[in-house]
Amino acid sequence: MFKTEVLSSDRSNIEYAARLINDGEVVGIPTETVYGLAADAANETAVKKIFEAKGRPQDNPLIVHLSSVDMMDRYVCNVPELAYRLVERFCPGPLTMVLPKRDIIPDVTSAGLDTIGIRIPFHKTARDIIDACGKPLAAPSANLSGSPSPTTAQHVFEDMNGRIPLIIDGGACGVGVESTVVSFENDGIRLLRPGYVSVEDLKSIGAEVFCDKGIVEAVADGEKVLSPGMKYKHYSPKANVTLVMGSLEKFTEYVSEHNGEDVYAMLYDRDAAEYPYKYMTYGDNSEEQAAQVFGVLRKADEIGAKQVFVRCPEQNGVGLAVYNRLLRSAGFEVIKV
Ligand code: AMP
Ligand code: MG
Repeated sequence: MFKTEVLSSDRSNIEYAARLINDGEVVGIPTETVYGLAADAANETAVKKIFEAKGRPQDNPLIVHLSSVDMMDRYVCNVPELAYRLVERFCPGPLTMVLPKRDIIPDVTSAGLDTIGIRIPFHKTARDIIDACGKPLAAPSANLSGSPSPTTAQHVFEDMNGRIPLIIDGGACGVGVESTVVSFENDGIRLLRPGYVSVEDLKSIGAEVFCDKGIVEAVADGEKVLSPGMKYKHYSPKANVTLVMGSLEKFTEYVSEHNGEDVYAMLYDRDAAEYPYKYMTYGDNSEEQAAQVFGVLRKADEIGAKQVFVRCPEQNGVGLAVYNRLLRSAGFEVIKV
């Protein structure tokens, strides 16, 4: 097996990454949300390598990353006025818009759909790599399919060593959870995946926002979904994850009844002083929790946890994104105490 190279985000390394991508390779790149596995979005063979490296189901479409708004019209069409209002307010940034695709984007990239998710990342290295390639990059999160998303180059290396030639290390991701995904319907916005751009943010441009029920509920077998990613078990460490909703006192009581050698709590930082059992912490507010949630889920496996009981996050602002990721890593197992 070959070893994946990990290089800094120097100019010469950015150019090296771009050469590899233009030769049809897949490279791990930093963005403000999570690390991505980037390939030329218009190169079918290269895009297939992304699916192989991740073990991603063929029907789960990729997001196409652009470096500027000017690139948009070449890849998508029939863009509603609302989308341009979102662009003005939130792009570049952690927002993905699902829009009708043009033929230049092959079916493997969109997983056979006639729409494509597009995003203009804020992260300078991500945009520099896109610019150096001179073309849009398809990039899903750089984890093995099903495991927690990577927020450091080390996380990417753990999952992708021997599967891709290069990772560009841009430090830890600031946001920490994947982009907000929206589509457009009936003059409103449908939220398909919550992220740093919150429901409240989307409403602030004067639009109606419909939250897809797949955000907080499991999708039944065979049910038609608007966002294929909703169907799959995701963000899961090897440990069993359970969300526990209620006061710290009730939470502690619940754990005392289900405690054991390999049982860990995942707490707010401020809970730790009063908590008597084994624990990890994941921040004190929604922003901190978004930045830490995936790293802490990965740490659970490192320390050999078999069961993780999580203190439930808030469900507003970016908290809804943290809640959605934890719900999914828990397989929607929530205990109210
Ligand atoms: P990831 O690439 O791992 O960040 O996941 C991308 C997410 O965006 C998945 O959940 C997809 O289902 C969703 N997505 C991407 N493209 C589309 C599309 N054309 N229509 C609906 N959802 C999409
Ligand atoms: Mg992903």
